Amino acid sequence: MTDTNTMTTNFIKNIINDHRRINRFDSRVHTRFPPEPNGYLHIGHAKSICINFGIAGDYAGLCNLRFDDTNPTKEDVEYVESILEDVRWLGFDWQERLFYASDYFEELYQCAVQLIKNEKAYVDDLKADEIREYRGTLTAPGKESPYRNRSVEENLDLFRRMREGEFEDGARVLRAKIDMASPNLNLRDPVLYRIQHARHHRTGDKWCIYPMYDYAHPISDSLEKITHSICTLEFEDHRPLYDWLLDALGVYHPQQIEFARLNLSHTVMSKRKLRQLVEGGYVSGWDDPRMPTISGLRRRGYTPESIKDFCDRIGVAKANSFVDRAFLDHCIREDLHLKAPRVMAVLRPLRVVIENYPEGSVEMLDAEYNAENPELGSRQMPFSQVVYIEQDDFMEDPPKKFFRLAPGREVRLKHAYIIKCERVVKDEQTGEVIELRCTYDPDTRSGMSPDTRKVKGTLHWVSAEQAVKAEVRLYDHLFLKEHPEEDANFTTNLNPNSLEVLTGCMLEPVMTGAERGTRYQFLRHGYFFVDPLDSQTGALVFNRIVSLKDSWAKIQKNKAQK
Ligand code: ATP
Ligand code: MG
Repeated sequence: MTDTNTMTTNFIKNIINDHRRINRFDSRVHTRFPPEPNGYLHIGHAKSICINFGIAGDYAGLCNLRFDDTNPTKEDVEYVESILEDVRWLGFDWQERLFYASDYFEELYQCAVQLIKNEKAYVDDLKADEIREYRGTLTAPGKESPYRNRSVEENLDLFRRMREGEFEDGARVLRAKIDMASPNLNLRDPVLYRIQHARHHRTGDKWCIYPMYDYAHPISDSLEKITHSICTLEFEDHRPLYDWLLDALGVYHPQQIEFARLNLSHTVMSKRKLRQLVEGGYVSGWDDPRMPTISGLRRRGYTPESIKDFCDRIGVAKANSFVDRAFLDHCIREDLHLKAPRVMAVLRPLRVVIENYPEGSVEMLDAEYNAENPELGSRQMPFSQVVYIEQDDFMEDPPKKFFRLAPGREVRLKHAYIIKCERVVKDEQTGEVIELRCTYDPDTRSGMSPDTRKVKGTLHWVSAEQAVKAEVRLYDHLFLKEHPEEDANFTTNLNPNSLEVLTGCMLEPVMTGAERGTRYQFLRHGYFFVDPLDSQTGALVFNRIVSLKDSWAKIQKNKAQK
């Protein structure tokens, strides 16, 4: 067997390559993605999914999907289903290897019995706060529990009665018997089982004791013959416990490897905080397009390809760091650059009457969909006496460098003619500009005979009579601060203007049939997604995925120039 050498390398792959060189794990590569179904997945999980499934794919290995469902009060089938959908949507396939830690509850129980018999675990009657107090600190050693030296028989009897429901929540726990003086707090007799009379979404009322994550995880990995158990950095201090448990049980022993978690600017990431946003009504749901969840990004219009590309390019490192949201946006722009048809949409319309254009006449203009990708073909756009342009594209009293429309100035209407602004019509009461009176130059039709005249500005527009009305949703960062999590009450950093809904937008008529879940570039405005839930024929709704302004590319350019 040879290592694939086309793939980019990283420190995890270096470790795997070393293992394969010495034929550890018979040169197999078998990873797993182990979410806890206590919320929807976010972009950080996407990184973990890409690493685990990606590495398995690179080595022709396998990757399991395993729900770490050991915490019944916080978990729910809704979350299980959303996680399955998200992993599938990203394009990864666990084939028949979908597992649940709860499938192993009996085995996990038997392993605990084994530990008790080997005098490596005991039932402790100390209460949670006492256990905490006895644990000591980073500088002071812990204190042994008075129950630590119970006999094997007594421990077996108590543990069985814990399972049978004889005791109340919190009355007793099962602890590993390791070392209360260990400099690693995770080794100071960690709790393995707690009593919790709670209904589990899969095992129902069968159990009233539940294993702790640190106990269930290594054994689940071992049972599934995982080779490389890849997790985030905060588990580095837990690795000695992972190893201790599997050694104490004398079972198959995977290698745990830690990498740095992804942190993204202008958002919070942990499921707990994201749930707070949902439950507090700060967003419309887990799939709110401003959320960093996979379902939110999907609803916004990001493609799985752009998310996978992002995860590949941020790389796998051992040191925690922040990635700028602008980089994620850069990746979706790159993905859609050639794929998306480019059409015209006027988001804040201003009526323009072309006085010398024959009233009632309509002319069809040929307009290519993507100048950089001729394969997308073209469509016909109607042109007539009344068109809409963007309110921002007109100024009554413009500065010198304003190359758009102003009284007496000329601009080109994209794919059409050069027009000149002759007069401004205002609302008598408010003084607001409500209409422009223009003239056009019939000799300047785009694509016809060599253009003799050049003008500085080109505007997008749509013909008023045939225009399709639509709702457009514009998004900004959910949080004003780059690192909102720095504040305990992070919700105070929410951006009050993160959503702007525009209702009277005017689109060119070809958009009538825009299907839900499709993507377009609106010229000069960015990339847009036909909302998969709210959009309907006759009442189209578009989400802006990103604007065209690539702040990430700009930052890179400035860096290069320095
Ligand atoms: P959260 O605190 O956001 O809920 P978690 O680690 O508790 O995260 P799990 O469901 O336990 O969430 O995570 C499943 C897997 O995804 C774990 O292996 C975890 O290490 C990984 N993961 C979670 N968050 C990130 C992140 N921000 N970057 C990379 N991997 C992550
Ligand atoms: Mg967790």
